[in-house]
Order: sequence, then C-alpha cells, then structure tokens
Amino acid sequence: MRKLILFLLFSALSIPMAYAQHYDIVLQGGRVMDPETGLDAVRNVGINAGKIARISRMKLTGRQIIYAGGLVVAPGFIDLHQHAQDLATQRVKALDGVTSALEMEIGAPDVAQFLRAKEGRSLINYGTSASQVAARALAFGTPLPAGAILPKIGPATNEAATPEQLQRIRKRLNHELDAGGLAIGMGLGYTPGATRLEVLDDFRLAAQRKVPVYTHVRSSGQTEPGSAIESVNEVIGAAAITGASLHIVHINSTCAADAVECLSMVEGARARGLDVTTEAYPYIAGMTTINSAIFSPGWQKRMNIGYGDLMIPETGERLNKERFDALHASSATQFVVIFSSKQEVLDQVIPNPLVMIASDGLVGHPRNAGTYSRVLAQYVREKKTITLMDALRKMSLMPAEMLERSTPAARQKGRLQEGADADIVVFDPATIHDRATFQKPMEPSVGVRYLLVGGTLLVDQGRIVPNVFPGQALMGPTHQPGTQD
Ligand SMILES: [Zn+2]
Repeated sequence: MRKLILFLLFSALSIPMAYAQHYDIVLQGGRVMDPETGLDAVRNVGINAGKIARISRMKLTGRQIIYAGGLVVAPGFIDLHQHAQDLATQRVKALDGVTSALEMEIGAPDVAQFLRAKEGRSLINYGTSASQVAARALAFGTPLPAGAILPKIGPATNEAATPEQLQRIRKRLNHELDAGGLAIGMGLGYTPGATRLEVLDDFRLAAQRKVPVYTHVRSSGQTEPGSAIESVNEVIGAAAITGASLHIVHINSTCAADAVECLSMVEGARARGLDVTTEAYPYIAGMTTINSAIFSPGWQKRMNIGYGDLMIPETGERLNKERFDALHASSATQFVVIFSSKQEVLDQVIPNPLVMIASDGLVGHPRNAGTYSRVLAQYVREKKTITLMDALRKMSLMPAEMLERSTPAARQKGRLQEGADADIVVFDPATIHDRATFQKPMEPSVGVRYLLVGGTLLVDQGRIVPNVFPGQALMGPTHQPGTQD
C-alpha cells in the first residue's frame, strides 16, 4: 500500500515535471518543415545546448520564447560554394538564411591556416576543400600570393606537370586533407595545362582518401573540341574510372546554353550508379578574374560571348577590346561579371530535382547576398515551379548529404529533427526576397526573421546580433575538431 501511494505520488509529481522542462530557446507555433521526413506542420521546437531537443504539439517552456506564428521554421541553408569568407559577407549570408558556407569549389590554399583564422571568429559554420589549383601552383614553384585562391596565367596554369611535379601535387593534397580538407577542389578551367592523366591521378587520390572531388570543369560553351559537354564527360569518366564521388559546380554557368543537356548527363551517370551531384545559382551572369586562364585566347568562341558581355562590378562599365586587353595583361587582379546565360535555360535548371542551390558567393556579385531568398521569391512564390519543401531540400538536406561523404558531422545538419544541430532559419514565406543587385551587390535580403547557428541566435527580429561568433568548423574524415596543428 505504501508502495502504491509512493508510486501515485511520484507519478503525480513526475508528469508536471516532464512538461515543465525548460529549454534554452523555444520556437513557438511556427510552420516546421523538414525535407527528410516530410514534416510540415505547426509545432513548437525546444533547443538545448546547441541541439534540437524537442519538436512537439505541446506547449514548451524555455528561457527565451520566440513567437514564430506565420513563419517557416526550417533547417539553416548550407552553401557548398562560398568564396568570400569575410564578416560583412557572413552577415548578408545569415540574412539570406545561410548557417553554413563552405569554400569547396577551389578550396583554401592552406587548410590549417584557413581553419585557424576562423576559429572563434566566424558567424556561421565553415569548411574547405584541399585546393588542386594551389597545390599545382606550389608544385610549379609559384605559390599563390596571400589572399588569392586563383592563379594568374603562367606555367602553373598552362603547362603539363612533370612526374616530379605530379608527385608534389599529390603530396600537398594529402597534407591538406590531413589538415581537415573535406574534398579535393579542382578548378580545371583555371589550370588548362593539367592533362587528363593528371586529372585521373587527383581523382584516384580522392577515392583513396574517401573524399569527393568538387570541380569547375575544363571548359564551357558549345564549341568542339573543348565544349562544356566534353568537359563534363571528362570528369564523369574520371569518377567512373576511379570510384570517387563527383560534384560539378555551377552547372548553370559552366554549361550555359547546354545546361539541360549537362543535367541529363548527370542523370544518366547517376542511373548507372555513379555518385555525381551538381548545383546552380539563380543569376544569368557569372563572375571571375579577368587575369585567369578562363580568358586565354579564344574565350569569346569558347563562351559564345563578346567584350560587351563583360562588366566591371565596381563601376558597371562594359568592356571593349582595348579595355579588355589592358586589364587582362595587367598584374593587378580584376574581377569581371560575365553575362553568358539565358533566363529561359536558368528557369529549367533551378527547379530540376538534381540541382542543389549554391551561391558561388563573391563580393561584387549579388549572388553573394541574395541567392537563397531569390530562389524562394522567384521560383517558389512567383513562378511556382518549385514547391517550398523542394526548395528547402535543395538548400539544406541535399548539401548536408553531399557533405556526409566526408564528414559524419553533416548528418546532424540539414534536418529539422530532434537530435539535429540547432542550425535553423525562421523566415516569412510571403515576403522573403533578395535585394542585392549588380549596382548594390551587398544589399541584404529581407524576410529572414530569426537564424540560429548551433543554438545561438545570430539573427533576431531581422537583425544581426552583435558580438556572437557561433560558427564551427566542418572537417574531413581524418580530422577531428580541436586537433589541428
Ligand atoms: Zn567556378
């Protein structure tokens, strides 16, 4: 009897205690959307110690309650292709819904230095691939200058590597993967001197190290030989031969008029069991340095554009032959915006279910600040060619799954589920839109009301919270956080 009374007493006490659990933060009454499970319902989300601890219909209590009625609560966006890594850029990315932004296309020239520089100083999560472009520059005895990720035209970009140089490239890439690189970033368009055999060598290394290859393929445009189709063929072939996972960056700008054909190649490769993925950004213009090998003689024919399709981002100036020649020959690095794609093609590429959204973010191009809100505004709300859930899948779950090839930490990202990292975006689906333009490329998007990175509030009522640096590193398979030298 005494036992029964005790049991009843305990039960009576324990039920209210369970309900009374306090969370650090509660997101209350938002439309919770998870692209993996398909959950799309009004729920309360309890966050504790950086994790999503509870998703419930029941009322949750916490130290901080955020009312999310009428707002979407989704996994924070993961940008696999982000070059600019400065704080001003991180602020506009956060206001665009991004909680992780990684430099995967080319990769930082020195992985350990990149990670050290960001530790404790990053607003959002970060990571990088090991750079084939930088490894090649080093092997040729012309290391990249501080701050640069792309080489100017020279032997390191245009000449074939000797067997000794190939060995040095391999050694450097191994070193960089040991330091925490998440992949091999391969900028073939910037190193046309790399032979097909060298490319296979790098893919073999990636397969051995169990990391993917991210690649800006050798060439773009429709002219044979050297078309985008041939270039995509080359890397799909290398993936098939070596077994390495392959991610083809910005298929929109690389393949331009043939982007739909290129997507059918990715689809075909996947149907044959190859691990090939791709991404795009929602703008008809690209951007790169005018001093790079992309602009080696014949670029007009290769890209099917002329001088007037090139624009100086700082001034809006369109180029002519004289200006092009002067800038191309100059030792000063100059970025140019390249108008090379058509809206009709882009409108087929962005909704394709194989395509992840990734910004290729660089200061001077509106894609740095506006990519994610632009997709939500233009394709989900206005054109209605992507459902909201599919857009979230392209922005969070698909890139998380890509990162899982090289880091188990990514399994906790890209999901709005109990146990996942509390990287969360809370936005107004009725009003979210980009404001960045080619004239004002750093104008922040509007509509992201709250953003949490690892459970820390980074955007509060549409404004950046000052003096918090919750961004954490994502690192490759041989490296664990806190052990880098
Ligand atoms: Zn690129």
